[in-house]
Amino acid sequence: MSPSPAGALPAPLPQDLHVHTVFSRHDGAVVPEQTVELVAGIRHARVLGISDHLEYVADEFAEYSRTVRAHRLRLGLEVNGAEWVGAALDLPVDYYIYHCRDRAEDYRGAERLAASGRPAIIAHPQALQTDLERVSPACLIEINNRYAWREQGWRALAPYVERFRFVIGSDAHQPHWLNQTAARFIARELGVRETLLFENSIL
Ligand SMILES: [Zn+2]
Ligand SMILES: [Zn+2]
Repeated sequence: MSPSPAGALPAPLPQDLHVHTVFSRHDGAVVPEQTVELVAGIRHARVLGISDHLEYVADEFAEYSRTVRAHRLRLGLEVNGAEWVGAALDLPVDYYIYHCRDRAEDYRGAERLAASGRPAIIAHPQALQTDLERVSPACLIEINNRYAWREQGWRALAPYVERFRFVIGSDAHQPHWLNQTAARFIARELGVRETLLFENSIL
């Protein structure tokens, strides 16, 4: 057995667009070490984006955007339901991660985000009781490393494998969550091929 060279990191994942940082300051799962700088330094995915919660970055969006862009990462937002869709559409981001609860206005909100031409990714549908029958096929569905394995909820995605495009996300709030191993196992079980939304992280 030959030892790995010192400093070698695992080969990067193809894409991770669901990552939180200290800009999600009121999200109790985020630790102070989870800075944009650290995520950019670890760079665990080739296409890498930050998707902090809009309700926490709305008041400091310029600083959020500047920091993410300075580290040459994709700029996203996690949008918490229909109430935040108007604000999200006004901001110059690359993509949306969307909380779609089982409410008519949330399904309409998903359609509005997708109609922007920017990717609209339905976050962890099992955790929010999203009815995928009611989601526009213009949206993408996330297989989320934090939630998808719970209570085998991912099995409910099986009827939708042909209907939607899928992405895989870590939903990392802490440095050691920067991986997608469980989600990738699930994607394989489902026969899902992930959709890569960008050529690379850099604009
Ligand atoms: Zn979420
Ligand atoms: Zn999230």
